[in-house]
Amino acid sequence: MSTGTVFDIQRFCVDDGPGIRTTVFLKGCPLHCVWCHNAEGLSGKVQLYYSAEHCIGCQICQAVCPVQAHRFTDSGHTVDFSRCITCGACVDACPNESLRLAGKLMTAEEVLSEVVKDQPFFESSGGGMTLSGGEPLMQGEFAISLAKLAKERGLHVCIETSGFCNHETMKSIAQYVDLFLFDYKHSSPEAHKRYTGVENKIILENLEFLETLEKPVILRCPIIPDCNDTKEHYGAIAALANRMKNIIEIHIEPYHPFGVSKYTALGLTAMYNSQEMMPKDASEQAAETVRALSGKNVIIS
Ligand code: SF4
Ligand code: SF4
Repeated sequence: MSTGTVFDIQRFCVDDGPGIRTTVFLKGCPLHCVWCHNAEGLSGKVQLYYSAEHCIGCQICQAVCPVQAHRFTDSGHTVDFSRCITCGACVDACPNESLRLAGKLMTAEEVLSEVVKDQPFFESSGGGMTLSGGEPLMQGEFAISLAKLAKERGLHVCIETSGFCNHETMKSIAQYVDLFLFDYKHSSPEAHKRYTGVENKIILENLEFLETLEKPVILRCPIIPDCNDTKEHYGAIAALANRMKNIIEIHIEPYHPFGVSKYTALGLTAMYNSQEMMPKDASEQAAETVRALSGKNVIIS
């Protein structure tokens, strides 16, 4: 039985592929994009998540914690995440849902039994299951099992991926995936390494492999001020889309700051912590430039 670590199963998603979808978020990512807005997906391990805004200061967590990770001083409640062994005692004891564990070990069957609850909505809307993360292919065997089980139940399957995985994993999962939502983060190899922590060679090879299979791809392009909001990058997006016939659409994803607070809740520090939304006219300009150069359908998402 294939098992993996899941940090969320979101129902009624409408931005993760066609129709109404249930999106399964797998933990762990081999990239560390400085702008990542899904901090829970970075580590493959289960983590303590503390929402300070819900804390009422009752100190019950301190009383039950076996490793003294919770402390109370005149300046308030602090959590020493480095001590936490994720036993869950404080999570169970907290009266105000200020604490939770991000990540849960599940079997592929358990995940699918959740997903198929919305099968009637999938059928009426043309939706299905989407695998996301983190990078879902970091838990390659588990992701393949999920996709295979979903296909056996007649579901449409999408995967949101950075494309950073070994060739065998991509080959195996491709047979069960109807549509790839494939990230394209930077066109310069050096800048790609600087901003994501990895080079883009494997990613581009996997993208080209999907073209040989004629697998439909939506290219998802995060646009981050001062990282990749350049005419050169927009030109490279368009050139790639022109070259690959299987790229059916391009999504421009402007930076938003909604994920920054998650870093604090996990005891982490955001590397790119701007609180500013990317200006609407800059997003529209990016989309218009890519549209004009590629002739493909380009939307802002
Ligand atoms: S999960 Fe367990 S170890 Fe971690 S802070 Fe809570 S009680 Fe302490
Ligand atoms: S148990 Fe919950 S509400 Fe009480 S102090 Fe701890 S985190 Fe805050």
